[in-house]
Amino acid sequence: MLLREVEYAKPSSVSEALELLAANEGARALAGGQTLLNVMKARAASPDALVDLNGLEELRGIELAADGTLTIGAMTTYTELVTSVEAKARPILGEVCGQLADVQVRNRGTIGGNVCSNDPSNHLPPLTAAVGARMTIASAAGVGSTEADIIEREVPAEEFFLGVYLTAVGQGELLTRITIPAGKRDGFAAVTLGADGTCIANAAASVDGGVRIALGCVDAVPVVLHPDSADEDAVRAAVRAAGLQPPADVHASSEYRAHLAEVLAVRAARQAAERS
Ligand SMILES: Cc1cc2nc3c(=O)[nH]c(=O)nc-3n(C[C@H](O)[C@H](O)[C@H](O)COP(=O)(O)OP(=O)(O)OC[C@H]3O[C@@H](n4cnc5c(N)ncnc54)[C@H](O)[C@@H]3O)c2cc1C
Repeated sequence: MLLREVEYAKPSSVSEALELLAANEGARALAGGQTLLNVMKARAASPDALVDLNGLEELRGIELAADGTLTIGAMTTYTELVTSVEAKARPILGEVCGQLADVQVRNRGTIGGNVCSNDPSNHLPPLTAAVGARMTIASAAGVGSTEADIIEREVPAEEFFLGVYLTAVGQGELLTRITIPAGKRDGFAAVTLGADGTCIANAAASVDGGVRIALGCVDAVPVVLHPDSADEDAVRAAVRAAGLQPPADVHASSEYRAHLAEVLAVRAARQAAERS
């Protein structure tokens, strides 16, 4: 289907992008376009203007600090995360991005677009929640702001996801980077529609600095659990105590999705605990 007419701007700095977004309530950031253009074609979203972030080098790249902290620009693609030497400091990132959809989507889609769309079936909302990521959100101080005037705030991933397609990034704001602490003992498990397909249910786990498990596809936002240990019994008990009431669809009933969540949480926690 053809897109309806839409204005287009390609800013040359983050402050210009923020100004364009703040000046027009109907403007949306365009990252990889792998979700946004499809929902526009389906007429499920109809922005008045697209602010293309693809020219903004400030939003790209992966930096590894001496203490193992990774700082990932919002416009970093899945392929860049798979191939980056720095990203191997937290191996689960490349492993999960490498499973995601197909090579075209991985070459265009970005980590920022994935978490900002917060489609409950996406891979990265639960993953970022499990690894304790922190999201940096920027807004312009006012009309005519320069880079020096940009206001930034940091939101933990657990508080970033607010609802289906809804995050802490407000109108006129941009996610600029994602910070991920050092750690290696992570796991991810999913049941997908065919190989590399959309998730029916997924679970991400980390056992570095306490056990954290995030379940995807069972609610509007990742369901984050903190079991006492990564043992199967403790993980199953934590999932049951969460009282999940997942949505039903053509792929799974609510009960089956809840069952998958429990099984996948156990698998992800086991994978994390077995890593050294
Ligand atoms: C065939 C196909 C299969 C797919 N399968 C999967 C899958 O199995 N798992 C999965 O996780 N994903 C899947 N996706 C979605 C894909 O991962 C998208 O890349 C991702 O959801 C959106 O990233 P994007 O960079 O393309 O963002 P876009 O589509 O450009 O943007 C998505 C939304 O985020 C907003 N946005 C983007 N960047 C920012 C920013 N920096 N600050 C503020 N707002 C921003 C946009 O305004 C828009 O509302 C699939 C997509 C396709 C086409």
